[in-house]
Amino acid sequence: TGRLSGRTALVTGGSRGIGRAISLRLAAEGALVAVHYGHRTEAAEEAVAEIEAAGGRAFALRAELGVPGDAEALWAAFDKGLSEYGAEPGLDILVNNAGVTLPKRIGDVSEEEYDRLFAINVKAPFFVIQQGLGRLRDNGRIINISSGVTRIAMPNISAYSMTKGALDTLTLALAPELGARGITVNAVAPGFTYTEINPTLKVPEVLNAYAATSVFNRIGRPSDIADVVAFVASDDARWVTGQWLDATGGAHIG
Ligand code: NDP
Repeated sequence: TGRLSGRTALVTGGSRGIGRAISLRLAAEGALVAVHYGHRTEAAEEAVAEIEAAGGRAFALRAELGVPGDAEALWAAFDKGLSEYGAEPGLDILVNNAGVTLPKRIGDVSEEEYDRLFAINVKAPFFVIQQGLGRLRDNGRIINISSGVTRIAMPNISAYSMTKGALDTLTLALAPELGARGITVNAVAPGFTYTEINPTLKVPEVLNAYAATSVFNRIGRPSDIADVVAFVASDDARWVTGQWLDATGGAHIG
C-alpha cells in the first residue's frame, strides 16, 4: 500500500505528456486515478493500460475543455466513471493539468485565438474547481500546473504566460478559503519539458538552447514534474498551501 492508497485523484489532460506521468505516479502511490482527456481516446486508453500493467487502478473519461458547459460535462463523466468502476463518489486530489500553448508574439495573436486559449487554460480550471468543491473531501489537494514563464519573461508566448499567471493568482486567492477544510491549493511550475506541446524540441539547436536554461543542462522529463506533484499531493505537504513550486530545473537562476 502506497501513501495515497484509499485516495481518488482526477488529472485533467492525464492521457499524455506531463499529465500522463502524474497519473502514473499517483497510481503507483496507490490512488485510483481518473485519467481525463479531450480528443485522443487511444492515448487515454494507453495511459490506463500502463497504470493497470503496473498494478494500479485507473479509468479514462472524456470531456473537451474550452467549450460552454465543459466543467459540468467533465464532472458528469467523472461521477459516471467512478460509479461504473464501483468506487465511492468524491475525490481527494484534483490536478488541473490540461492546457494548450500559443507560440505567438503579441502582434500575431487574434482575438479568437486569445479567447480559446483563456477558455481552456483559465476558465476551464476555474469552473472545474468551482464545481469540484462539493466532491472534494476534507484534507484534499488542488494542484494547478502553472509554468516557469509566469516568472521568466518569454515574449514569444505572452498570452500563454498570462493564462498561467491567472492560475497562479487563483491558487493564492483560493488557499485561505479552503484552509478550514484542510484542503491545500498549490501551483507546480514546470520549465521546458519534453512533450508533444513543444514540437520544436525535435530541432537539436532548439533543444540544446532550452536545455542550457537549466542549471542541469537538460530538458525536463514529465516524471521530473510528476514527482513534485506527488509530494504536494501527499500528507507530507499538508503544511504547504497557496504556494508556487518551481519545477524548472533551476531555469535562468544563474
Ligand atoms: P501535452 O500537449 O503533451 O498534453 C496535453 C494534455 O491536455 C493531453 O492529455 C490533452 O488531451 C489535454 N488537453 C489539451 N487540450 C484539451 C482540451 N481542449 N480539452 C480537454 N483536454 C485537453 O501537454 P504537456 O504535457 O506538455 O502540458 C501539460 C501542462 O503543463 C499544460 O498545462 C502546460 O501548459 C503545462 N506546461 C508544459 C510545459 C512543457 O514544456 N511541456 C512547460 C510548462 C508548463 P487530448 O489530446 O485528448 O485533448
